[in-house]
Amino acid sequence: MNKDISRRDWLKGSSAVAIAMIAGSRANAQDMTVPGFMPSKDTPLRLSSNENPYGVSQAAREAIMEALEHSHLYSSRREGESKLAALLAKIEGVGIKNITFSGGSGEILKTLGLITAVEGGSVLTADPTYHGLTRYAINRNVEIKRVPVDDTMTIDLDLFREAYTDDVSIIYLVNPNNPLPTIMEKNKLRDFCIEMSKKCLVFIDEAYHEFVDNPDYATMVPLTATHENIVVARTASKIHGFAGIRLGVAYGSEMWIEKINEYITGSTNQLACSGALASYRDTDTQKFVLQKNRESKEIVYNLFDKHNVRYMKSNTNFIFFETGIDVNEVRERFQKHGILVGRQFPPYLTWCRVSMGKPEDMEYFAQIYEKEFVS
Ligand code: PLP
Repeated sequence: MNKDISRRDWLKGSSAVAIAMIAGSRANAQDMTVPGFMPSKDTPLRLSSNENPYGVSQAAREAIMEALEHSHLYSSRREGESKLAALLAKIEGVGIKNITFSGGSGEILKTLGLITAVEGGSVLTADPTYHGLTRYAINRNVEIKRVPVDDTMTIDLDLFREAYTDDVSIIYLVNPNNPLPTIMEKNKLRDFCIEMSKKCLVFIDEAYHEFVDNPDYATMVPLTATHENIVVARTASKIHGFAGIRLGVAYGSEMWIEKINEYITGSTNQLACSGALASYRDTDTQKFVLQKNRESKEIVYNLFDKHNVRYMKSNTNFIFFETGIDVNEVRERFQKHGILVGRQFPPYLTWCRVSMGKPEDMEYFAQIYEKEFVS
């Protein structure tokens, strides 16, 4: 390759990074803050999987690079993860024996599905909700009982009490829920967990915990240290941008943590643990991501308010909105312009889930929305 061209490209590349850093955006792959980038079918904006558009923090990148030095060595599960467990135990106010790790929280969900398949019982969950546990359990012949959300698209815990039968071994609740970004009121949920955990495992999936800014919400992690049958899953995939690195966390009683460790077939790894240790300490970057997520949501709320579109105020990094059009068609119409949005979420087949990208991405989303859906 001609030297001048590669030098020019290099200069172009480095100035793009500089501009992105000035904008505080830590440019990663494809987004509207990268000069000259135009979304297309081949290089789309990924507003479909609730990922973190800012990627892994600088502190985590450096920690991962450092950890590479000893990543050729096997390490015992406990040895590699103990520093991270100590940090999280301190942050959450539980013991290190109340914590275990996995390659993404999806693995915790599947492990609990596996335990149900092997040890017996059925799963009671909301409709709609995240599919990670139920899809895995169904394939292993576990019966799934579903309780529809109420008129406000919120999980109604009294309906769960009514739906409970003696064969239920796990109640799986996602809080905030996905694809509906609603929460369960904290006192009602705490009472429910304490009451129902006398009968079966109550499993709360808090994948979007860090994004909630709502006085009615509270984490159930503290209960896991004091009550035998409550497990909470968290993930580093969202606020920490570890979706491709893979780190999930389960909080539970010693009995449940031991059982999960016994059944789990995968694991996380040294690079993920070292990166996460730096990332969980890096509260400035977390605050930055939250602030940007709020700005992105404001852009989309304003768009939908302007056009009288029904949507859910979000406790997460995605928004659920009504289009009145089959979601598969909606996806195609966005995709033409290089935007990926969420899949079908029955029974809301004329609603759509859009994940928050950077504010600049959401300005583009708003432009395309107006072009395609406002006549
Ligand atoms: N739980 C919920 C509610 C999710 O939305 C997701 C992913 O989007 C997961 C669990 C799985 O996340 P991961 O396996 O990346 O930790």
